[in-house]
Amino acid sequence: MNAAPDKNKLIAGATGPWEIVIGMEVHAQVLSQSKLFSGAATAFGAAPNAQVSFVDAAMPGMLPVINKFCVEQAVRTGLGLKAKINLESIFDRKNYFYPDLPAGYQISQYKNPIVGEGEVTIDLKDGESIRVGIERLHLEQDAGKSLHDQHPDHSFVDLNRAGVALMEIVTKPDMRSSEEAAAFVRKLRAIVRYLGTCDGNMEEGSMRADVNVSVRKPGGPLGTRCEIKNVNSMRFIVQAVEFEARRQVEILEAGGEIRQETRLFDSRAGETRSMRSKEEAHDYRYFPDPDLLPLVLDQAWVNDIAASLPELPDAKKARFMELGLSAYDASVLVAEKETADYFEAMLAAGSEAKSAANWLNNEYFGRLNKAGLSITDGPVSAEANSAILAMVADNSISGKIAKDLLDIIWSEGGDPKAVVEARGLRQVTDTGAIEAAVDAVIAANPAKVEEVKSKPKLAGWFVGQVMKQTGGKANPQAVNAVLKVRLGLPDDA
Ligand code: ADP
Ligand code: MG
Repeated sequence: MNAAPDKNKLIAGATGPWEIVIGMEVHAQVLSQSKLFSGAATAFGAAPNAQVSFVDAAMPGMLPVINKFCVEQAVRTGLGLKAKINLESIFDRKNYFYPDLPAGYQISQYKNPIVGEGEVTIDLKDGESIRVGIERLHLEQDAGKSLHDQHPDHSFVDLNRAGVALMEIVTKPDMRSSEEAAAFVRKLRAIVRYLGTCDGNMEEGSMRADVNVSVRKPGGPLGTRCEIKNVNSMRFIVQAVEFEARRQVEILEAGGEIRQETRLFDSRAGETRSMRSKEEAHDYRYFPDPDLLPLVLDQAWVNDIAASLPELPDAKKARFMELGLSAYDASVLVAEKETADYFEAMLAAGSEAKSAANWLNNEYFGRLNKAGLSITDGPVSAEANSAILAMVADNSISGKIAKDLLDIIWSEGGDPKAVVEARGLRQVTDTGAIEAAVDAVIAANPAKVEEVKSKPKLAGWFVGQVMKQTGGKANPQAVNAVLKVRLGLPDDA
Protein backbone atom coordinates (compact mmCIF):
# COMPACT_ATOMS: atom_id res chain seq x y z
CA MET A 1 0.00 0.00 0.00
CA ASN A 2 2.59 2.55 1.07
CA ALA A 3 6.08 2.74 -0.39
CA ALA A 4 9.44 2.10 1.27
CA PRO A 5 10.33 4.33 4.24
CA ASP A 6 10.80 7.94 3.20
CA LYS A 7 14.19 9.24 4.39
CA ASN A 8 12.73 12.64 5.25
CA LYS A 9 10.27 11.15 7.70
CA LEU A 10 12.81 9.15 9.70
CA ILE A 11 14.20 10.19 13.06
CA ALA A 12 17.99 10.21 13.17
CA GLY A 13 18.97 8.34 16.34
CA ALA A 14 22.42 7.60 17.75
CA THR A 15 22.08 3.98 16.55
CA GLY A 16 20.72 4.92 13.12
CA PRO A 17 17.39 5.96 11.65
CA TRP A 18 13.98 5.15 13.22
CA GLU A 19 10.61 4.99 11.56
CA ILE A 20 7.48 6.38 13.25
CA VAL A 21 4.29 4.30 13.05
CA ILE A 22 0.94 5.91 13.81
CA GLY A 23 -2.64 4.62 14.00
CA MET A 24 -5.60 6.71 15.10
CA GLU A 25 -8.92 6.33 16.82
CA VAL A 26 -11.01 9.40 16.07
CA HIS A 27 -14.24 10.19 17.90
CA ALA A 28 -16.60 12.19 15.72
CA GLN A 29 -19.89 13.43 17.15
CA VAL A 30 -22.78 12.56 14.87
CA LEU A 31 -24.51 15.64 13.54
CA SER A 32 -28.04 14.96 14.76
CA GLN A 33 -30.65 16.93 16.69
CA SER A 34 -31.25 14.14 19.19
CA LYS A 35 -29.20 11.51 20.96
CA LEU A 36 -28.40 7.94 19.92
CA PHE A 37 -31.00 6.24 22.11
CA SER A 38 -33.20 9.10 23.37
CA GLY A 39 -35.05 12.14 22.09
CA ALA A 40 -33.04 14.64 24.18
CA ALA A 41 -31.42 17.53 22.29
CA THR A 42 -27.71 17.70 21.47
CA ALA A 43 -27.06 21.43 20.85
CA PHE A 44 -23.72 22.69 22.17
CA GLY A 45 -23.64 25.23 24.99
CA ALA A 46 -26.98 24.53 26.71
CA ALA A 47 -27.33 25.08 30.48
CA PRO A 48 -26.03 22.05 32.47
CA ASN A 49 -28.48 19.12 32.53
CA ALA A 50 -30.99 20.96 30.33
CA GLN A 51 -30.82 18.22 27.70
CA VAL A 52 -31.19 15.00 29.66
CA SER A 53 -33.95 12.43 29.24
CA PHE A 54 -34.73 9.66 31.73
CA VAL A 55 -32.89 7.28 29.40
CA ASP A 56 -29.71 9.43 29.51
CA ALA A 57 -29.96 9.66 33.31
CA ALA A 58 -30.34 5.84 33.42
CA MET A 59 -33.52 5.92 35.48
CA PRO A 60 -34.61 2.38 36.39
CA GLY A 61 -36.68 0.67 33.74
CA MET A 62 -35.89 3.09 30.93
CA LEU A 63 -35.26 1.46 27.57
CA PRO A 64 -33.02 2.75 24.76
CA VAL A 65 -34.64 3.24 21.35
CA ILE A 66 -32.24 3.54 18.42
CA ASN A 67 -32.28 6.84 16.51
CA LYS A 68 -32.60 5.91 12.83
CA PHE A 69 -31.07 9.19 11.68
CA CYS A 70 -27.85 8.52 13.65
CA VAL A 71 -27.63 5.10 12.00
CA GLU A 72 -28.10 6.76 8.61
CA GLN A 73 -25.31 9.23 9.43
CA ALA A 74 -22.94 6.38 10.35
CA VAL A 75 -23.77 4.57 7.09
CA ARG A 76 -23.28 7.78 5.12
CA THR A 77 -19.88 8.27 6.77
CA GLY A 78 -18.93 4.66 6.09
CA LEU A 79 -19.77 5.09 2.42
CA GLY A 80 -17.73 8.31 2.33
CA LEU A 81 -14.79 6.29 3.70
CA LYS A 82 -15.28 3.77 0.85
CA ALA A 83 -15.94 1.21 3.54
CA LYS A 84 -17.89 -2.00 3.82
CA ILE A 85 -21.31 -1.46 5.42
CA ASN A 86 -22.24 -4.37 7.68
CA LEU A 87 -25.94 -5.13 7.25
CA GLU A 88 -25.99 -6.67 10.71
CA SER A 89 -24.23 -5.13 13.68
CA ILE A 90 -24.50 -5.52 17.44
CA PHE A 91 -24.65 -3.01 20.31
CA ASP A 92 -22.65 -4.08 23.34
CA ARG A 93 -22.39 -2.81 26.87
CA LYS A 94 -18.93 -1.56 27.81
CA ASN A 95 -19.00 -1.70 31.60
CA TYR A 96 -17.14 0.72 33.81
CA PHE A 97 -17.85 2.96 36.77
CA TYR A 98 -17.60 6.69 36.36
CA PRO A 99 -19.61 9.44 38.09
CA ASP A 100 -20.63 10.90 34.71
CA LEU A 101 -21.81 7.50 33.44
CA PRO A 102 -25.03 6.85 35.41
CA ALA A 103 -25.86 3.51 33.77
CA GLY A 104 -22.51 2.03 34.78
CA TYR A 105 -21.92 1.10 31.14
CA GLN A 106 -21.59 2.75 27.77
CA ILE A 107 -23.52 1.31 24.83
CA SER A 108 -20.96 0.77 22.09
CA GLN A 109 -20.17 -1.74 19.35
CA TYR A 110 -17.36 -4.20 19.87
CA LYS A 111 -16.97 -7.29 17.71
CA ASN A 112 -19.62 -6.40 15.13
CA PRO A 113 -19.41 -2.72 14.15
CA ILE A 114 -21.77 -1.10 11.65
CA VAL A 115 -18.91 -0.22 9.28
CA GLY A 116 -15.92 -2.37 8.34
CA GLU A 117 -12.76 -1.72 6.30
CA GLY A 118 -12.36 1.34 4.11
CA GLU A 119 -9.72 3.92 3.17
CA VAL A 120 -8.91 7.60 3.10
CA THR A 121 -6.48 9.25 0.67
CA ILE A 122 -4.43 12.05 2.19
CA ASP A 123 -2.58 14.75 0.27
CA LEU A 124 0.80 15.85 1.55
CA LYS A 125 2.59 19.15 1.01
CA ASP A 126 4.95 17.86 -1.65
CA GLY A 127 1.99 16.75 -3.80
CA GLU A 128 2.40 13.11 -2.74
CA SER A 129 -0.79 11.16 -1.91
CA ILE A 130 -0.98 8.34 0.63
CA ARG A 131 -3.76 5.89 1.41
CA VAL A 132 -4.65 5.26 5.05
CA GLY A 133 -6.60 2.09 5.75
CA ILE A 134 -9.73 2.32 7.88
CA GLU A 135 -10.16 -0.63 10.22
CA ARG A 136 -13.75 0.07 11.29
CA LEU A 137 -16.31 2.65 12.32
CA HIS A 138 -18.68 1.96 15.19
CA LEU A 139 -21.48 3.84 16.90
CA GLU A 140 -21.39 4.52 20.62
CA GLN A 141 -22.72 6.86 23.30
CA ASP A 142 -20.78 9.75 24.70
CA ALA A 143 -20.49 10.07 28.50
CA GLY A 144 -21.44 13.08 30.64
CA LYS A 145 -18.98 15.53 32.09
CA SER A 146 -17.77 15.97 35.69
CA LEU A 147 -17.27 19.60 36.73
CA HIS A 148 -14.67 20.08 39.45
CA ASP A 149 -14.35 23.85 39.34
CA GLN A 150 -17.83 25.02 40.31
CA HIS A 151 -17.77 24.57 44.08
CA PRO A 152 -14.98 24.46 46.73
CA ASP A 153 -15.86 21.01 48.05
CA HIS A 154 -18.31 19.44 45.63
CA SER A 155 -18.01 18.06 42.13
CA PHE A 156 -20.96 18.42 39.79
CA VAL A 157 -22.08 16.29 36.88
CA ASP A 158 -23.48 17.62 33.60
CA LEU A 159 -25.27 14.92 31.60
CA ASN A 160 -26.00 16.99 28.50
CA ARG A 161 -23.47 14.98 26.50
CA ALA A 162 -24.51 11.66 28.02
CA GLY A 163 -26.00 9.53 25.26
CA VAL A 164 -24.95 11.78 22.38
CA ALA A 165 -24.05 9.64 19.33
CA LEU A 166 -20.37 9.28 18.50
CA MET A 167 -18.71 7.54 15.60
CA GLU A 168 -15.39 5.99 16.55
CA ILE A 169 -13.28 5.69 13.43
CA VAL A 170 -10.22 3.44 13.77
CA THR A 171 -7.36 3.44 11.25
CA LYS A 172 -4.75 0.84 10.47
CA PRO A 173 -1.23 1.77 11.61
CA ASP A 174 -0.54 3.31 8.19
CA MET A 175 0.84 6.77 9.00
CA ARG A 176 4.58 7.45 9.14
CA SER A 177 5.00 11.05 10.29
CA SER A 178 3.33 13.75 12.35
CA GLU A 179 2.51 15.53 9.08
CA GLU A 180 0.66 12.45 7.81
CA ALA A 181 -1.24 12.11 11.09
CA ALA A 182 -2.42 15.72 10.97
CA ALA A 183 -3.20 15.46 7.26
CA PHE A 184 -5.32 12.37 7.97
CA VAL A 185 -7.42 14.14 10.59
CA ARG A 186 -7.73 17.18 8.33
CA LYS A 187 -8.95 14.99 5.47
CA LEU A 188 -11.31 12.98 7.67
CA ARG A 189 -12.71 16.25 9.00
CA ALA A 190 -13.24 17.52 5.45
CA ILE A 191 -15.02 14.29 4.44
CA VAL A 192 -17.48 14.31 7.38
CA ARG A 193 -18.14 18.02 6.85
CA TYR A 194 -18.84 17.49 3.14
CA LEU A 195 -21.14 14.62 4.12
CA GLY A 196 -22.84 16.66 6.84
CA THR A 197 -22.38 13.83 9.34
CA CYS A 198 -20.20 15.70 11.87
CA ASP A 199 -19.48 19.42 12.17
CA GLY A 200 -15.78 18.69 12.74
CA ASN A 201 -15.55 21.40 15.39
CA MET A 202 -12.48 20.36 17.36
CA GLU A 203 -12.68 23.26 19.82
CA GLU A 204 -16.15 22.20 20.93
CA GLY A 205 -14.99 18.59 21.15
CA SER A 206 -17.07 17.37 18.18
CA MET A 207 -13.94 15.66 16.91
CA ARG A 208 -11.03 14.36 18.99
CA ALA A 209 -8.26 11.93 18.24
CA ASP A 210 -6.52 9.19 20.21
CA VAL A 211 -3.10 8.91 18.61
CA ASN A 212 -1.22 5.59 18.81
CA VAL A 213 2.53 5.97 18.30
CA SER A 214 5.36 3.47 18.09
CA VAL A 215 8.83 3.50 16.54
CA ARG A 216 10.84 0.81 14.79
CA LYS A 217 13.95 0.32 12.72
CA PRO A 218 12.88 0.90 9.09
CA GLY A 219 11.26 -2.23 7.71
CA GLY A 220 11.45 -4.04 11.09
CA PRO A 221 8.55 -5.51 13.07
CA LEU A 222 6.05 -3.09 14.69
CA GLY A 223 7.17 -1.71 18.03
CA THR A 224 5.12 -1.43 21.22
CA ARG A 225 2.75 1.52 21.01
CA CYS A 226 1.59 4.19 23.39
CA GLU A 227 -1.83 5.75 22.99
CA ILE A 228 -2.14 9.51 23.46
CA LYS A 229 -5.72 10.31 24.46
CA ASN A 230 -8.02 13.08 23.27
CA VAL A 231 -5.77 15.30 21.21
CA ASN A 232 -7.99 18.11 19.97
CA SER A 233 -6.13 20.12 17.32
CA MET A 234 -3.94 19.45 14.28
CA ARG A 235 -1.09 21.40 15.87
CA PHE A 236 -1.28 19.33 19.05
CA ILE A 237 -1.34 16.10 17.01
CA VAL A 238 1.92 17.14 15.34
CA GLN A 239 3.52 18.15 18.65
CA ALA A 240 2.33 15.02 20.48
CA VAL A 241 3.65 12.65 17.79
CA GLU A 242 7.00 14.43 17.55
CA PHE A 243 7.49 14.41 21.30
CA GLU A 244 6.29 10.85 21.82
CA ALA A 245 8.37 9.35 18.99
CA ARG A 246 11.55 11.02 20.27
CA ARG A 247 10.80 9.92 23.83
CA GLN A 248 10.49 6.31 22.65
CA VAL A 249 13.68 6.47 20.56
CA GLU A 250 15.60 7.77 23.58
CA ILE A 251 14.33 4.95 25.79
CA LEU A 252 15.11 2.27 23.21
CA GLU A 253 18.57 3.64 22.44
CA ALA A 254 19.37 3.69 26.15
CA GLY A 255 18.59 -0.04 26.18
CA GLY A 256 15.13 0.35 27.73
CA GLU A 257 11.74 -1.01 26.73
CA ILE A 258 8.51 0.76 25.81
CA ARG A 259 5.65 -0.04 28.17
CA GLN A 260 2.29 -0.10 26.42
CA GLU A 261 0.33 2.65 28.11
CA THR A 262 -2.17 5.44 27.78
CA ARG A 263 -0.67 8.92 27.85
CA LEU A 264 -1.98 12.46 27.99
CA PHE A 265 -0.68 15.36 25.90
CA ASP A 266 0.05 18.44 27.98
CA SER A 267 -0.25 21.21 25.41
CA ARG A 268 1.32 23.81 27.68
CA ALA A 269 4.47 21.80 28.32
CA GLY A 270 4.40 20.30 24.80
CA GLU A 271 4.95 16.79 26.20
CA THR A 272 3.10 13.51 26.76
CA ARG A 273 2.70 12.07 30.26
CA SER A 274 1.74 8.63 31.50
CA MET A 275 -1.92 8.19 32.53
CA ARG A 276 -2.20 4.44 33.05
CA SER A 277 -0.27 1.38 31.98
CA LYS A 278 -1.69 -1.61 30.15
CA GLU A 279 -1.77 -3.60 33.40
CA GLU A 280 -4.09 -0.99 34.85
CA ALA A 281 -6.27 -1.09 31.74
CA HIS A 282 -9.95 -1.74 32.32
CA ASP A 283 -11.58 -5.06 31.68
CA TYR A 284 -14.85 -3.80 30.27
CA ARG A 285 -16.71 -7.13 30.28
CA TYR A 286 -18.34 -6.38 26.93
CA PHE A 287 -21.57 -8.27 26.24
CA PRO A 288 -24.46 -7.68 23.81
CA ASP A 289 -26.94 -5.19 25.29
CA PRO A 290 -30.06 -7.25 26.11
CA ASP A 291 -32.23 -4.13 25.66
CA LEU A 292 -31.33 -3.84 21.98
CA LEU A 293 -31.85 -6.20 19.07
CA PRO A 294 -29.10 -6.66 16.51
CA LEU A 295 -29.14 -3.70 14.12
CA VAL A 296 -30.25 -5.04 10.73
CA LEU A 297 -30.06 -2.81 7.66
CA ASP A 298 -31.74 -3.19 4.34
CA GLN A 299 -29.34 -3.14 1.36
CA ALA A 300 -31.83 -1.05 -0.64
CA TRP A 301 -31.82 1.60 2.10
CA VAL A 302 -28.00 1.63 2.08
CA ASN A 303 -28.09 1.97 -1.73
CA ASP A 304 -30.41 4.98 -1.44
CA ILE A 305 -27.98 6.66 0.95
CA ALA A 306 -25.09 5.87 -1.41
CA ALA A 307 -27.01 7.45 -4.30
CA SER A 308 -27.54 10.64 -2.27
CA LEU A 309 -23.90 11.27 -1.31
CA PRO A 310 -22.54 14.66 -2.33
CA GLU A 311 -19.39 15.05 -4.42
CA LEU A 312 -16.52 14.41 -1.97
CA PRO A 313 -13.12 16.15 -1.84
CA ASP A 314 -11.20 13.59 -3.94
CA ALA A 315 -13.75 13.67 -6.76
CA LYS A 316 -13.92 17.45 -6.61
CA LYS A 317 -10.14 17.69 -6.71
CA ALA A 318 -10.00 15.46 -9.81
CA ARG A 319 -12.68 17.57 -11.50
CA PHE A 320 -10.82 20.81 -10.67
CA MET A 321 -7.61 19.33 -12.10
CA GLU A 322 -9.47 18.57 -15.33
CA LEU A 323 -10.26 22.28 -15.49
CA GLY A 324 -6.51 22.91 -15.60
CA LEU A 325 -5.59 23.40 -11.93
CA SER A 326 -2.40 21.92 -10.46
CA ALA A 327 -2.81 19.13 -7.89
CA TYR A 328 -1.66 21.55 -5.22
CA ASP A 329 -4.11 24.33 -6.12
CA ALA A 330 -6.94 21.83 -6.41
CA SER A 331 -6.25 20.34 -2.97
CA VAL A 332 -6.08 23.76 -1.35
CA LEU A 333 -9.49 24.61 -2.83
CA VAL A 334 -11.23 21.36 -1.84
CA ALA A 335 -9.77 21.22 1.69
CA GLU A 336 -12.84 23.04 3.03
CA LYS A 337 -16.25 22.67 1.45
CA GLU A 338 -16.90 26.41 1.81
CA THR A 339 -13.72 27.23 -0.12
CA ALA A 340 -14.64 24.87 -2.94
CA ASP A 341 -18.16 26.36 -3.02
CA TYR A 342 -16.68 29.86 -3.25
CA PHE A 343 -14.41 28.85 -6.13
CA GLU A 344 -17.35 27.25 -7.93
CA ALA A 345 -19.42 30.39 -7.41
CA MET A 346 -16.66 32.30 -9.22
CA LEU A 347 -16.79 29.81 -12.10
CA ALA A 348 -20.58 30.17 -12.20
CA ALA A 349 -20.09 33.93 -12.42
CA GLY A 350 -17.98 33.38 -15.54
CA SER A 351 -14.39 33.23 -14.26
CA GLU A 352 -11.84 31.04 -15.96
CA ALA A 353 -10.73 28.24 -13.59
CA LYS A 354 -6.97 28.74 -13.56
CA SER A 355 -7.08 32.51 -13.12
CA ALA A 356 -9.75 32.23 -10.41
CA ALA A 357 -7.63 29.67 -8.54
CA ASN A 358 -4.50 31.84 -8.85
CA TRP A 359 -6.37 34.91 -7.73
CA LEU A 360 -7.81 33.17 -4.68
CA ASN A 361 -4.56 31.45 -3.69
CA ASN A 362 -2.28 34.44 -4.35
CA GLU A 363 -4.48 37.38 -3.36
CA TYR A 364 -7.75 36.74 -1.61
CA PHE A 365 -6.81 33.91 0.81
CA GLY A 366 -3.75 35.87 1.95
CA ARG A 367 -5.94 38.83 2.86
CA LEU A 368 -8.38 36.55 4.67
CA ASN A 369 -5.57 34.89 6.63
CA LYS A 370 -4.09 38.20 7.61
CA ALA A 371 -7.47 39.41 8.86
CA GLY A 372 -8.14 36.09 10.62
CA LEU A 373 -11.34 35.60 8.61
CA SER A 374 -12.80 32.44 7.14
CA ILE A 375 -14.02 32.37 3.55
CA THR A 376 -17.64 32.65 4.68
CA ASP A 377 -16.87 35.76 6.78
CA GLY A 378 -14.77 37.51 4.13
CA PRO A 379 -16.00 40.90 2.91
CA VAL A 380 -15.71 40.29 -0.85
CA SER A 381 -18.26 38.08 -2.61
CA ALA A 382 -17.33 35.46 -5.20
CA GLU A 383 -19.24 37.54 -7.75
CA ALA A 384 -17.19 40.65 -6.94
CA ASN A 385 -13.89 38.78 -7.22
CA SER A 386 -15.11 37.34 -10.48
CA ALA A 387 -16.01 40.82 -11.77
CA ILE A 388 -12.48 42.03 -10.95
CA LEU A 389 -10.95 39.16 -12.93
CA ALA A 390 -13.31 39.79 -15.87
CA MET A 391 -11.97 43.33 -16.12
CA VAL A 392 -8.37 42.05 -16.13
CA ALA A 393 -9.28 39.53 -18.82
CA ASP A 394 -10.80 42.14 -21.15
CA ASN A 395 -7.92 44.58 -20.50
CA SER A 396 -10.15 47.12 -18.72
CA ILE A 397 -7.72 47.13 -15.81
CA SER A 398 -4.13 45.97 -15.30
CA GLY A 399 -3.12 43.21 -12.90
CA LYS A 400 -1.64 45.82 -10.60
CA ILE A 401 -4.86 47.86 -10.51
CA ALA A 402 -6.82 44.65 -9.90
CA LYS A 403 -5.01 44.20 -6.59
CA ASP A 404 -5.64 47.81 -5.59
CA LEU A 405 -9.27 47.38 -6.58
CA LEU A 406 -9.56 44.28 -4.39
CA ASP A 407 -8.27 46.32 -1.46
CA ILE A 408 -10.86 49.03 -2.14
CA ILE A 409 -13.76 46.55 -2.39
CA TRP A 410 -12.43 44.77 0.70
CA SER A 411 -12.55 47.88 2.87
CA GLU A 412 -15.29 49.94 1.25
CA GLY A 413 -17.47 47.41 -0.56
CA GLY A 414 -19.21 48.38 -3.79
CA ASP A 415 -19.53 47.05 -7.30
CA PRO A 416 -16.05 46.60 -8.83
CA LYS A 417 -17.08 47.90 -12.25
CA ALA A 418 -18.70 51.01 -10.83
CA VAL A 419 -15.66 51.66 -8.61
CA VAL A 420 -13.35 51.45 -11.65
CA GLU A 421 -15.46 53.98 -13.54
CA ALA A 422 -15.94 56.31 -10.57
CA ARG A 423 -12.24 56.40 -9.71
CA GLY A 424 -10.94 56.44 -13.26
CA LEU A 425 -8.99 53.21 -12.79
CA ARG A 426 -9.64 52.00 -16.31
CA GLN A 427 -6.48 50.92 -18.07
CA VAL A 428 -5.12 53.37 -20.60
CA THR A 429 -4.87 51.60 -23.97
CA ASP A 430 -5.23 54.84 -25.89
CA THR A 431 -1.89 55.12 -27.74
CA GLY A 432 -1.91 58.94 -27.76
CA ALA A 433 -1.91 59.14 -23.95
CA ILE A 434 0.71 56.43 -23.65
CA GLU A 435 2.94 58.10 -26.25
CA ALA A 436 2.74 61.37 -24.31
CA ALA A 437 3.78 59.63 -21.10
CA VAL A 438 6.64 57.81 -22.88
CA ASP A 439 7.89 61.02 -24.42
CA ALA A 440 7.82 62.79 -21.08
CA VAL A 441 9.91 60.05 -19.45
CA ILE A 442 12.41 60.06 -22.35
CA ALA A 443 12.77 63.83 -22.24
CA ALA A 444 13.41 63.79 -18.50
CA ASN A 445 16.10 61.06 -18.63
CA PRO A 446 18.62 61.71 -21.42
CA ALA A 447 21.43 59.79 -19.70
CA LYS A 448 19.30 56.66 -19.42
CA VAL A 449 18.30 56.99 -23.05
CA GLU A 450 22.03 56.85 -24.02
CA GLU A 451 22.59 53.87 -21.71
CA VAL A 452 19.67 51.77 -22.99
CA LYS A 453 21.22 51.67 -26.46
CA SER A 454 23.96 49.35 -25.19
CA LYS A 455 21.88 47.82 -22.40
CA PRO A 456 18.49 46.88 -23.86
CA LYS A 457 17.50 45.31 -20.51
CA LEU A 458 17.13 48.85 -19.19
CA ALA A 459 13.89 49.10 -21.17
CA GLY A 460 12.17 47.61 -18.11
CA TRP A 461 13.16 50.66 -16.11
CA PHE A 462 11.43 52.88 -18.67
CA VAL A 463 8.29 50.75 -18.49
CA GLY A 464 8.29 51.23 -14.71
CA GLN A 465 8.62 55.00 -15.08
CA VAL A 466 5.76 55.21 -17.58
CA MET A 467 3.56 53.09 -15.30
CA LYS A 468 4.38 55.44 -12.44
CA GLN A 469 3.49 58.43 -14.57
CA THR A 470 0.12 56.91 -15.49
CA GLY A 471 -0.73 55.75 -11.96
CA GLY A 472 -0.37 52.11 -12.98
CA LYS A 473 -3.15 52.45 -15.51
CA ALA A 474 -1.22 52.14 -18.76
CA ASN A 475 -1.52 48.86 -20.58
CA PRO A 476 1.99 47.35 -20.20
CA GLN A 477 2.02 45.76 -23.70
CA ALA A 478 1.12 49.10 -25.29
CA VAL A 479 3.84 50.86 -23.24
CA ASN A 480 6.39 48.29 -24.39
CA ALA A 481 5.47 48.70 -28.01
CA VAL A 482 5.67 52.50 -27.93
CA LEU A 483 8.95 52.44 -26.00
CA LYS A 484 10.59 50.15 -28.53
CA VAL A 485 9.75 52.52 -31.34
CA ARG A 486 10.74 55.69 -29.48
CA LEU A 487 14.01 54.27 -28.12
CA GLY A 488 14.85 52.60 -31.42
CA LEU A 489 15.20 49.14 -29.83
CA PRO A 490 15.07 45.90 -31.81
CA ASP A 491 11.72 44.04 -31.77
CA ASP A 492 12.97 41.17 -29.63
CA ALA A 493 14.47 43.35 -26.90
P1 ADP B 1 -6.85 -2.45 20.68
O1 ADP B 1 -7.59 -3.69 20.29
O2 ADP B 1 -5.95 -2.60 21.84
O3 ADP B 1 -7.71 -1.23 20.76
P2 ADP B 1 -6.13 -2.09 17.96
O4 ADP B 1 -5.41 -3.18 17.25
O5 ADP B 1 -7.59 -1.95 17.74
O6 ADP B 1 -5.84 -2.21 19.50
O7 ADP B 1 -5.45 -0.76 17.59
C1 ADP B 1 -5.87 0.44 18.11
C2 ADP B 1 -5.18 1.53 17.31
O8 ADP B 1 -3.77 1.44 17.48
C3 ADP B 1 -5.42 1.44 15.82
O9 ADP B 1 -5.60 2.76 15.32
C4 ADP B 1 -4.14 0.86 15.28
O10 ADP B 1 -3.86 1.30 13.97
C5 ADP B 1 -3.11 1.41 16.22
N1 ADP B 1 -1.94 0.56 16.36
C6 ADP B 1 -1.90 -0.78 16.54
N2 ADP B 1 -0.63 -1.21 16.63
C7 ADP B 1 0.17 -0.12 16.51
C8 ADP B 1 1.59 0.10 16.55
N3 ADP B 1 2.46 -0.89 16.74
N4 ADP B 1 2.04 1.35 16.39
C9 ADP B 1 1.19 2.39 16.22
N5 ADP B 1 -0.14 2.24 16.19
C10 ADP B 1 -0.66 1.01 16.35
MG1 MG C 1 -9.26 0.13 20.35
